[in-house]
Amino acid sequence: MRKTFAIIGLGRFGGSVCRTLIESDQEVLAIDNDEDRVNEYMNIATHAVVANAQDEITLRSLGLRNFDHVIIAIGEDIQASILVTLMAKEMGVPRITAKAQNEYHARVLEKIGADVVVHPERDMGIRLAHKLTSKNILDFIELSEDYTLAEVVMTNRAFFDRTIGEINFRQNFNLTIVAIRRGKKKLIVSPAADERILEDDVLLVVGTNEDVELFDNSME
Ligand code: ADP
Repeated sequence: MRKTFAIIGLGRFGGSVCRTLIESDQEVLAIDNDEDRVNEYMNIATHAVVANAQDEITLRSLGLRNFDHVIIAIGEDIQASILVTLMAKEMGVPRITAKAQNEYHARVLEKIGADVVVHPERDMGIRLAHKLTSKNILDFIELSEDYTLAEVVMTNRAFFDRTIGEINFRQNFNLTIVAIRRGKKKLIVSPAADERILEDDVLLVVGTNEDVELFDNSME
């Protein structure tokens, strides 16, 4: 379904969100107070305008409240980011995503009503560190503060050619296998208890962060 997005701030983060949304065929209004940045996005975004988002009259005249989703991607200027988030909230924008520079900034953005607060540098750092230290986790998504969906390569011989039921997977690991990826093409969704685990299968498992980590550590 096509949705309307307004992106305020066309730095690296806002710019890449803009390009990706356009590639997904969404409608994007790109806003920045820097004319060169706006010119860069003139032929990329659906519309691109030079405007100071800190000016409430300007924001109203751009019809910000009519967008499904507003992304506030102002970088360094924390004061501007907070003020624009607050104004977008007061105008009744249905969904606001705001980028935070640091933990304090993130807390303020959450308090004033941003629906999603992203902290790209920190989030990427955490992701990379997890991947570098994990033996078998190919990728993961944090579903909430406590739960993770992870892709784990099966390398523990003790499990090869045994069924999920025989391994007593749920009782032993406290994890649910959502799917098994086998080779390049095969995906077994919601595998039954009699499904056999083979060498180099990739298991998509859901569970608490601790249980996912314990499972990862149980690999050889
Ligand atoms: P990133 O870390 O994502 O690259 P930047 O700080 O480089 O972030 O980019 C933020 C963008 O937000 C810049 O292009 C800047 O011109 C824009 N910006 C900052 N303040 C305002 C404002 N009040 N109104 C509109 N755009 C703004």
